[in-house]
Formats: sequence, structure tokens, C-alpha cells
Amino acid sequence: VAPPETEGLAPADRSRMKVSDEVAIEISGMNKWFGQFHVLRDIDLTVYRGERIVICGPSGSGKSTLIRCINALEEHQRGQIVVDGTELSTNLRNIDTIRSDVGMVFQHFNLFPHLTILENCTLAPIWVRKIPKKEAEETAMHFLTKVKIPEQADKYPGQLSGGQQQRVAIARSLCMRPKIMLFDEPTSALDPEMIKEVLDTMIELAEEGMTMLVVTHEMGFARQVANRVIFMDQGQIVEQNEPEAFFGNPQNERTKLFLSQIL
Ligand code: ADP
Ligand code: MG
Repeated sequence: VAPPETEGLAPADRSRMKVSDEVAIEISGMNKWFGQFHVLRDIDLTVYRGERIVICGPSGSGKSTLIRCINALEEHQRGQIVVDGTELSTNLRNIDTIRSDVGMVFQHFNLFPHLTILENCTLAPIWVRKIPKKEAEETAMHFLTKVKIPEQADKYPGQLSGGQQQRVAIARSLCMRPKIMLFDEPTSALDPEMIKEVLDTMIELAEEGMTMLVVTHEMGFARQVANRVIFMDQGQIVEQNEPEAFFGNPQNERTKLFLSQIL
């Protein structure tokens, strides 16, 4: 599989498209059904290490299902998903490996309400990664500092704003030292004034070279951060391109319609 098409782009854009040749995720001929409903159709997608991919598309087009398949939260029925060299199969050991290599941030933060922020961040490292408590707490404080809320460590999720809770969710994922981060509409449940603080955290992560797949309708974020934008409709990848071309010169009628509705 060839790297993303770079020929014919202006030099500035070409540098933007430049990512490693190392494959992080390889999806080929992947199909998924919910009962009779064919939700994902013939998905082919290669993600290179360090890519920042934004996935957009109408509600119900299969964006969440696609990224949930990558994290083995959903099972696919046909085709292949290889994450960091490990094929996603029903082999439980593979699933454990993938879950700890791939971090996931959801629309509704999914923090444990009865645990403190610090405990939320140390639970999986201690119980899944078997990291000593003290070390897990140091790592947690490191990432809580990174998302700029170390002073909230001893509070409970309910005492934090939505934006702060989402930044905790990001820190909690980072504590597992993932190689890939998946975001499913991380800002769509937030009040407008809190969206920026979460996007800023994600921008910082992107600048550090994290491989990221982000389902979002924040097109400003897509323009600024993504090296590739993917448009999905009715369970298919309809179109993908670098942001400049994607927004400036969409090819498919369905992409044009979608963009005319959201921009
Ligand atoms: P998106 O994230 O793009 O809005 P989803 O991946 O959530 O889309 O859903 C794609 C389609 O699959 C929708 O029609 C949705 O109703 C359906 N769907 C999602 N989850 C399930 C499920 N667990 N069982 C049955 N249908 C589902
Ligand atoms: Mg969704």
C-alpha cells in the first residue's frame, strides 16, 4: 500500500503529508454487520505512525463503529485489522495487547465517578499493567500536569467541569503509554467555552508525534492539525485527502453536500 498521495501538492502541503513509512494500523477489506444491518462496508485504511487523521461524516455513517473496531470494542466479521503488527482476532491475548497500545477517549468522558481523579488515572496502570502504585501515581501526576490540572488530583469527577473531565480522560489514557490514540467526538458534549481547552490538549499531543484518529466535526481543528481528512457515509470511506484539498476541492457529491451543511 502506497503512502498518502503527495504528488501534485504545493511544497508546504507536501511537508504536511510527510509521515513515517511505518504502518500503525492496517485495515483491509473490513466489513461489519449489526445483525442484518451492514454497518461497515469494505473498509481499506492504512494509518502511518505519526499521522493525525480526522474522520467526519453524517450521523449514523459508522464513524464510531469503525474506531471501536480498531480498539476491539466491536467485533468485525470480514477482512483484517492489524494494529501495531498484531492482528485483531478473537484471540484474547491479542485484544489485551491492542487495548493497552491504543488509547480511547469518548464523547462522554466515562470516568469512574466514585474514584478520585488520581485513582481514575492509576487504576488501569496498577491492575492491568501491574505497575507499582507509587510509580503509577507519579506517572498520573505527570500527565495531569501535562493537561494542566494537577491541582484537581484529589477531587472526584463530579466536582470538575466537563472540559476538565475530558482532559482527565485524556491524561488517564496517556497513563497507559498508548502508541495510538482514538478520539470519538471528544468535544461534542462540551459547552463552547470548554471546547478550546480540550482541543489545545489534543493539538499538543499531535505536535509531540502521537498517532491520532479523531472523529470530530471541529473543522478548524481538522485544518490545523490533521494531515488527512476522511469522509464516511453509509458505512463506507467515500473520500480522503489532505485538509486543504478536502475542504477546498471536495470530489464526491456526498462530501460536497456534507461540507455545505456543516461549514
Ligand atoms: P456514527 O458514529 O457515524 O454516528 P455509528 O457507528 O454510531 O455512527 O452507527 C452506525 C450505524 O450503526 C447507525 O445506524 C447505528 O444506529 C447503528 N448501530 C450502532 N451501534 C449499534 C449496535 N450496537 N447495534 C445495532 N446497530 C447499531
Ligand atoms: Mg458516533
